[in-house]
Amino acid sequence: MSRIVVLGGGESGVGSAVLAKVKGFDVFLSDMGNITEEYRSVLQEWNIPFEQGKHTEDLILNADEVIKSPGIPPTAAMVKKIVDRGINVISEIEFAGRYDSAKKVCITGSNGKTTTTSIIYHLLKEAGMNVGLGGNIGKSYAFQVATQKHDIYVLELSSFQLDDTYEFKADIAIITNITPDHLDRYDHKMENYVKSKFRITRNMSSDDCFIFCSDDEITINHLSQIVVQAQKLPFTQKTEVKQGAFIQDDKMVVRYKDQECDMYLQELALGGKHNIYNSMAAAIAAKAMDIDNDVIRNGLATFQAVEHRLEKVVSIKDVLYINDSKATNVDAAWYALECQTRPVVWIVGGTDKGNDYSCLVPLAKDKVKAIVCLGPDVKKFHESFEGIVPEMHDTMSMHDAVTTAAKLAKEGDVVLLSPCCASFDLFKNFEDRGRIFKEEVRSL
Ligand code: ADP
Repeated sequence: MSRIVVLGGGESGVGSAVLAKVKGFDVFLSDMGNITEEYRSVLQEWNIPFEQGKHTEDLILNADEVIKSPGIPPTAAMVKKIVDRGINVISEIEFAGRYDSAKKVCITGSNGKTTTTSIIYHLLKEAGMNVGLGGNIGKSYAFQVATQKHDIYVLELSSFQLDDTYEFKADIAIITNITPDHLDRYDHKMENYVKSKFRITRNMSSDDCFIFCSDDEITINHLSQIVVQAQKLPFTQKTEVKQGAFIQDDKMVVRYKDQECDMYLQELALGGKHNIYNSMAAAIAAKAMDIDNDVIRNGLATFQAVEHRLEKVVSIKDVLYINDSKATNVDAAWYALECQTRPVVWIVGGTDKGNDYSCLVPLAKDKVKAIVCLGPDVKKFHESFEGIVPEMHDTMSMHDAVTTAAKLAKEGDVVLLSPCCASFDLFKNFEDRGRIFKEEVRSL
């Protein structure tokens, strides 16, 4: 019996281990950190041996193949040893793809993955399809392949999940956009990060569809240097296209083969220029899946915003509080500011991933009346916005940030949490940061 070792005991690793078990492998899971109670009990329930807090080489280096969780960098000492031994290292996505004959709609990009993935899932569900939602969102893809049967999967794939895919093939692949992010994992080389995103197009044939933003220079540049066999379906807010999606007056138009679907932009459930892009990408995918225009229009009009993404929390004394905690990079915050039509009190700060805020200066000048910095590492915000935005205040807790913002905001203003940074300085993750923001706002 061949032996599969899974590194990492989170959602992805545990799902992979369960699938390997179901497929009859000798499975072992190893995690350098602690495995949560919830995942330990899944492993026990499926009779899968595991260890935590260490990597025992004797139990790992005898693997025929290793499945590495996306959070573990390729530079980790154990991974290097595995590679040196000539053992194949693959990702959960690669492994699960081997056992799944469902059609796969796969979404990657620097921003907009979760939103676009969720919209597509919503459209396919509304069309009555038997569809699974997975990847970087919800239950892992591998666990679903092990335990459920779907005709279609909509998979959100981060670049870390795409690294270590080889034979995996998407039927429809989407790159929402590419802006610098996570460069620490890619030798600080943008080119490596771009290549990783484009792995989503590997193995595609001319029957498949590749959906991308033709307003995104990085995507277009890279696309001009490689061969992608799939039909290319761009979405753009700048020009008309023969195939793909574009804007005509106050409508979004989708063209696929000889079909056309249009919809008034003001009917889209999600506001903001970035969400027009996301809706366009989703609508092209839906058209390529042969979904009726009415279902697409209805679905795009009824979609509920995903939590922590420009989520309207509550309006207090005509001040609207918006939770955009997921804006963990500069580009996401740019779109959040761009779509504001009321004066903004902007809450920023967190763990800086080497950010450059200069592109936010014009928007801040135009729309932001005050900045509330949250956390210990906010020097760069002061350097970038001092003198541009009339008022800046420093705070060290979400409670202080929200009460300070509430004092600064006047009737008709917006308080926007769109931090530009990761959340690990004061919070467990961006969800935790967003939830605490909402609690503080609701108790004002
Ligand atoms: P991801 O899963 O790629 O992180 P999300 O859909 O969770 O993307 O959105 C992350 C952040 O980026 C949110 O702040 C959201 O408002 C913003 N955003 C969403 N779509 C886009 C887009 N197409 N371009 C730029 N920013 C976006």
